[in-house]
Amino acid sequence: MASQIDHPSSWYAATANRSSPLPPLQGGARADVCVIGGGYTGLSAALHMAEAGLDVVLLEAGRVGSGASGRNGGQIHSGQRRDQDWLESRVGLDDAKALWRLAEDAKALLHDLIARHAIACDLRSGLIEADHKPGYVAHSHAYARKLNEVYDYPHAAPLTREEVREMVGSDAYYGGMIDHGGGHLHPLNLALGLAEAARRAGARLYEQSRALRIEEGGKVRVVTAAGSVEADWVLECGDGLQDGLDRRVDTHVMPICNYIAATAPLGERAREIISNGAAVADSRFVVNYYRLSGDGRLLFGGGESYKRGLRPNPGEFVRPYMLKIFPQLGDVSIDYGWGGVLGITMTRLPFVRKLSPRVLTAAGYSGQGVMLAPYFGKLLAQAVQGQLGEFDLLARLPVPAFPGGPLMRWPLLVAGMSYFALRDRL
Ligand SMILES: Cc1cc2nc3c(=O)[nH]c(=O)nc-3n(C[C@H](O)[C@H](O)[C@H](O)COP(=O)(O)OP(=O)(O)OC[C@H]3O[C@@H](n4cnc5c(N)ncnc54)[C@H](O)[C@@H]3O)c2cc1C
Repeated sequence: MASQIDHPSSWYAATANRSSPLPPLQGGARADVCVIGGGYTGLSAALHMAEAGLDVVLLEAGRVGSGASGRNGGQIHSGQRRDQDWLESRVGLDDAKALWRLAEDAKALLHDLIARHAIACDLRSGLIEADHKPGYVAHSHAYARKLNEVYDYPHAAPLTREEVREMVGSDAYYGGMIDHGGGHLHPLNLALGLAEAARRAGARLYEQSRALRIEEGGKVRVVTAAGSVEADWVLECGDGLQDGLDRRVDTHVMPICNYIAATAPLGERAREIISNGAAVADSRFVVNYYRLSGDGRLLFGGGESYKRGLRPNPGEFVRPYMLKIFPQLGDVSIDYGWGGVLGITMTRLPFVRKLSPRVLTAAGYSGQGVMLAPYFGKLLAQAVQGQLGEFDLLARLPVPAFPGGPLMRWPLLVAGMSYFALRDRL
């Protein structure tokens, strides 16, 4: 996807920490592990393996962080993409608790990586989950209490309509909850920081080096336009942008496009939009998610598209979603607009698999990758070293293939997603 090759014209790119382009792979290389994809999953995998003394080559089709990891909303959620009620009903209480603990470990790893590698990515705490329908509020309050009591998580608290209104300058919500353990950060700077840490640990990172095919024999060979890597292991970490490389992943992970707009700096008005500096995600199926940037802009994510390639004019596309929540911003200009591609799965749980004895993948975090993906990269790194405990728990998750196979999954996805998007408006 040509538009994904370089960093987008986003507010993130405009405020990125300095990073020099890395060379493309030229000629034949040999490594213990070849990682495909320079987002959080691949970079964290490369970092952890290099720290463990493995010889790692990472191939990135564009620039590191040019995929979802450098374009997302930067929101740090707790738990999995599905809530604990859903997980308990599908995998039982024990596995649901294990998945919650895993997500908490992922959050701790994220904080640890940022601290240990001194990654300047403007990490802040607080995530408000705002209900756009009155009927959702009782569930949000019960859910906050459940997290407190059943999951020993003291950081979730219910919010009444008035409390949400004090924090968020919009009449669009009826209540919700606040997660003081959630938060937000500058996503591209996180990716660039992980890349630098991996490089310093000894991983060899190549940009503009798309993996075109994977040849499996005794060893595995990954072929790019200008070279190849022979390795004992291959980690497929391309998420939604990897579409077309490996049918075994394509049947379970689908790319969808999501969009963000950044307003001009709001100055004094910023505190009227979000008074406590938390991130906000609402209860719509096509979620509105937003937060203030360090320089007082509203970064507002809203709207999706379900076909290959990003829409033109993303800022204009997002603006009506933003004005529906904040009509008072009608006079404010949009300075930046961009889109990105993320991988989703049928059940919205991550797809983690041993695809063959020497090829592993982790993908499809379905909008929860800021917190989950670095941890899943670490799990891939551990699996390569024979530690399979949590990898096996995740490989058991119900993540069925999309109906229709690689070709027919597109029209079926569009039909399904459009139906739920329509329900948001009812
Ligand atoms: C607009 C948007 C908003 C989002 N908001 C949030 C949010 O607020 N909170 C949250 O938790 N999550 C959010 N997400 C999801 C989150 O960004 C992803 O889950 C996460 O970044 C996935 O990381 P990754 O490393 O697996 O994939 P990516 O970051 O997409 O990295 C994959 C990389 O692989 C490369 N690649 C693909 N194919 C090949 C190949 N054949 N050869 C070489 N390289 C290849 C790509 O170029 C890309 O750089 C959002 C995503 C988008 C797009």
